[in-house]
Amino acid sequence: MISPLALGLQMGLTTALPMPAALIALDHHPQFELDRYTRQVEADGGWWLEMENRLLVAAPPARLPDLLAGERVVADLGWIRPDDLALQTRACGVDEGPALPAIADTGRFALVRTPATLLPYKAPDVSEWRPVVPNRAITKDLRARGLLHMAKAAPDPDVQQRVDAIDTQRWFDTLSTLASYDRSSYGSGIDQARDWLIGEFGALGLQVSTQTFLIGGTATQVENVIARRTGSVYPDEWVIVGGHYDSRQQSINDPSQSPGAEDNASGCAGVVEAARVFSQFPPQRTMVFVCFAGEEQGLYGGSAYAQSLQSSGDLAKVDLAVIMDMIGYSGDADLDVLLETSSSLSTVFTPFATAAATYAPELRVITDTSACCSDHMPFINLGVPSLLTIENDYSYHATMRPEGYQHYHKTTDLPANITRAQQMGGGILKMNIAVLTDAAGFEPPVLRDGFE
Ligand SMILES: [Zn+2]
Repeated sequence: MISPLALGLQMGLTTALPMPAALIALDHHPQFELDRYTRQVEADGGWWLEMENRLLVAAPPARLPDLLAGERVVADLGWIRPDDLALQTRACGVDEGPALPAIADTGRFALVRTPATLLPYKAPDVSEWRPVVPNRAITKDLRARGLLHMAKAAPDPDVQQRVDAIDTQRWFDTLSTLASYDRSSYGSGIDQARDWLIGEFGALGLQVSTQTFLIGGTATQVENVIARRTGSVYPDEWVIVGGHYDSRQQSINDPSQSPGAEDNASGCAGVVEAARVFSQFPPQRTMVFVCFAGEEQGLYGGSAYAQSLQSSGDLAKVDLAVIMDMIGYSGDADLDVLLETSSSLSTVFTPFATAAATYAPELRVITDTSACCSDHMPFINLGVPSLLTIENDYSYHATMRPEGYQHYHKTTDLPANITRAQQMGGGILKMNIAVLTDAAGFEPPVLRDGFE
């Protein structure tokens, strides 16, 4: 394992001479065209960085005009070197770091000009600054790359039937019910929320169990709620759907109520909604619906569950783990969803991108391979294909990202503050249910046109 800084030094690029640079818009550049373009930038002695729907291009002054010909230039960045830049990575929603003008800001990441003396800056708990490694994609906007258009498949009637079974009002009502409990790990309502989830899954005819564990370094005992439906054809192939149900305040010892409507009644309600859909349409593979506890103190619930699967030998049965954390909020005009996994598991993006294009075309899909900070991590760390789905407006900064979710980890994280919930959460649920339908399998259609 080599650190990004060491890698950059090895590539000889962080000490590169300054070059003039520009930011161009990626408007439906197909992947092959973009690959050809970035190879040309490198061949011309320059370097590049891709971030969402923008590409930073730096090149020797004699070459830059040719490289920019025919491209839509959105900013002239002047003369820069990679080490004049830093990547602010927002592990969680609220950034307490300094406000610096962002060259590009995608929510999870902001690319900023920063004096090298600021590195390594680490704000308490919530954000950090990393050196920039050139010639890589920080995040990718699949629509801007034209990938969603290429991936779009004809809707399958069986998948469409499950997607149509999603009831976004029912999901939002579930979210509101969960948000009515104070679900802080130290709060009064987490046990009531647990019991409500047990009842809800039980009513769907699932096998429900709980897993008790301690939050690390404390005597606080909390429980994961695990609901299983054994597959009708392939019982030893599992698909996991998860999201945490605990909540917290900014300060972990703050005893105020933590309604946690967006974080993460939204995702836990998504797990419940998925369980309802697949109870109507029983799949061929085993599905496990898990609402994790202890996420906010350090992914304790996800880790306890993944470890238990490893101990029992069941981990190898898991084909896919889909995690929902903060799926309901949109603070701006578009419905952008961030898909996140590790770079070694990035093939898992393809079915989600295809599903979004086909069954939830209202979504703008952003991908990111520097996974962190939610219940996909324990699975990724054990090599299980796992992906986080999260709305891309969750990150808030008063000046750098005012459209972000300012109620994150506050007493005001209430259902009424999740603007555009049914569109945003509904879109993410449609994408996820479509992928889950395919992953969990369904009976092939019998004689649909009457002559097979
Ligand atoms: Zn969360």
